[in-house]
Amino acid sequence: MKKNISFPHPRVQIADVIRRIYKTGLTTTTGGNISIREENGDIWVTPARIDKGSLNQKDIVCVKKDGTIIGPHNPSSEFTFHKAIYDTRPDIKAVIHAHSPALVSFSIVRKTPNINIIPQARHICGPIGYANYAISGGAKLGEVIAAEFSKGFKSVILENHGVVLGGVDLNDAYVRFETLEFVAGAIINARTIGEPVYTSDEQIEAWESQIPADLPEMNHADHSPDERSIRESISELVRRGCDQGLMIGSSGTLSVRWKEDDFLITPRNVPLWEIGVEDVIQVRDGKREPGKLPSRALHVHARIYKENPHINSIIQAQPPHVMAIGVSTAELNVRVIPESWFFLRDVPKVEFGKQYDQTGTIANFFSPTAPALIIRNDSIIVTGDKLMQTFERLEIAEFTARLMIMGETLGEMVPMNQEQIDEMIDKFD
Ligand code: 13P
Ligand code: ZN
Repeated sequence: MKKNISFPHPRVQIADVIRRIYKTGLTTTTGGNISIREENGDIWVTPARIDKGSLNQKDIVCVKKDGTIIGPHNPSSEFTFHKAIYDTRPDIKAVIHAHSPALVSFSIVRKTPNINIIPQARHICGPIGYANYAISGGAKLGEVIAAEFSKGFKSVILENHGVVLGGVDLNDAYVRFETLEFVAGAIINARTIGEPVYTSDEQIEAWESQIPADLPEMNHADHSPDERSIRESISELVRRGCDQGLMIGSSGTLSVRWKEDDFLITPRNVPLWEIGVEDVIQVRDGKREPGKLPSRALHVHARIYKENPHINSIIQAQPPHVMAIGVSTAELNVRVIPESWFFLRDVPKVEFGKQYDQTGTIANFFSPTAPALIIRNDSIIVTGDKLMQTFERLEIAEFTARLMIMGETLGEMVPMNQEQIDEMIDKFD
């Protein structure tokens, strides 16, 4: 997953990513480390045992090819295993190690997550390696990890410790990390609320083979002021969604109707938290903006707009708690509190694989009183008029799923009854 821009200096990239990892609760103050290997063999790495929440670019250390250390601190105590990975795998240019909660939970029960829980995880993360325990900072840990990487894995669980991911660049390693932690969390939460339901390799392959061809390119895009303001609101809300934990970088699509059946949509292969106004793609008269690749969900969004004149914005995402329901036997129950029912109405779940079918199953589901739907093992689609209204629906769906999962440990949930729902319809509809 790469963006077509020249990357910032390795120090800047490392400082940004370690900060993001800490801020999102994916490592502790002293846990975890990151490195980038340059073409000339120099390795930039986070310093040893220094607060990961306040590192800045000046703290990042460079270990030259000849072993000389440049920088104000010692390199990470796990430098040995970072180096061992690079020595074994010339294709790997960046490494992330972290003690993220869901993956560490797997490591302490000595299991690896089954990545067939969501389709994109198979490409992004898997298969997953498993390195037996060895003491932190030791040469033995380097050996067991490198042995797993030499089998071709890019994601390895460290027994009673954490996880390590490699990538062709730091973005690639980060997206792999975020996706794998997401998968682990979804499985844990799915087990709290029901039983996880996995997809088979064949189901994923059949689904991938249905992805329609790209639209033809238009000659040039029309960047009128109204078009530009849609770009701004899309890029702003996509970042807000990532910051609020409603979306992960590797998956999710936002679109806004512009005029008639024309719309603007987020791109494919750009991590969501990086999407700027220039990355958003115009789709006009069945053609795409030249030189840009829209999200693969484009055809589903196009069909939803065509069949539903009342819908002017769509968000398709994988909020973690909604997905725990999406990948399990449980159903999202919006009759928990008035707000949930009022904003979402009943949210059904359709089978995995319906995304690209030509019958319009998904597009025809929506109506003014049916704004949201879950696709099993894939995503939730929320629709609305203004983008902010759709975003709020996404937030409420995630909030609802979260309180269902939290309530599960307390006792049996008692939903609002039909009389209470009817009273609300009479009063507010
Ligand atoms: P460093 O701070 O030395 O990088 O160590 C953190 C860690 O996670 C050890 O396994
Ligand atoms: Zn560690």
